[in-house]
Amino acid sequence: MRVVYPSVFTGFSCLAGDCPLTCCIGWSVDIDAESLERYQSLAGAAGEMVRSHLVKDEGAYSFTVTPEGHCWFLDGDGLCRMQKEFGMDALCDTCRFFPRISWNAGSYVQFSMDLACPEVCRMAFTRPLSFREDEQEGETPLHREGRRELSAVLNRRGRLIAALERPLTVRRIVTDGREDARIASIVADCTKASRVGFLTPARVRQLQQESASYWLRHETQLEPWFSTLGSLLLFRYGCMAWYGMPWGRIVRFVRRAMRMTYLLLLHQQRDAEDLEVDAMVAASVLFARRIEHVEKNLQLLIAR
Ligand code: SF4
Repeated sequence: MRVVYPSVFTGFSCLAGDCPLTCCIGWSVDIDAESLERYQSLAGAAGEMVRSHLVKDEGAYSFTVTPEGHCWFLDGDGLCRMQKEFGMDALCDTCRFFPRISWNAGSYVQFSMDLACPEVCRMAFTRPLSFREDEQEGETPLHREGRRELSAVLNRRGRLIAALERPLTVRRIVTDGREDARIASIVADCTKASRVGFLTPARVRQLQQESASYWLRHETQLEPWFSTLGSLLLFRYGCMAWYGMPWGRIVRFVRRAMRMTYLLLLHQQRDAEDLEVDAMVAASVLFARRIEHVEKNLQLLIAR
């Protein structure tokens, strides 16, 4: 079995109570079927307590979200009550694996990292990015046609990621304002909850004027950050080609995501003296949480 992952996967360690955001602020946690079965058969007062915080919506289960917008199990010290009381194994898949995302096709397995986690972003933007590969036990062979298709997807993705090693390519993508009308309309259409403290269409148009000059002033820092951002997104979303999504749409999504993250950075940072990596982390996390992880917004970004 071939296992591929970005360098940020190795050595990642959750900040737990020291995390400035935590995974469960602003989101409801979807519960997988196996964990739900475990919670439903948990005996005694503990079982009743856990079940009293299950919410069913259109057949899917999640945990109660408090009026402050976080999971009911998030304790005042920033740690998870469920984990503290019942251990790591009690967590549902979403909580246990976040921010790691696995995908496999036959004997190929990849782990990508979710940029909604500030620690993932901090590691990604402060270390050189590479993609690593291990051979592990276990085979689920694809038929010959499947192997051929998978290899075409991985090769194409590899070439696109390699193109992002060229500074000129990164600069062209990030400072290209031709999609800004589209980005402004995405911003206008974003779900109401996503818009709080976010860009407005008017602000997108205003930032367009400053976009190229700001890049030139800070290119030494910005270029590797955006090369990494684009590469991580291509690595994660490139596998959509395996399900038949045209490469044109995948590439357009990654370009828009890079441009939108840049505009967010500019929006928050243009008046600051220095550009610190924290600003890139904040813009990337904001993009991931407000756009990428809201299905309606993601669809707007992927659409023509
Ligand atoms: S967002 Fe990342 S660092 Fe923060 S609690 Fe979640 S996994 Fe840990």
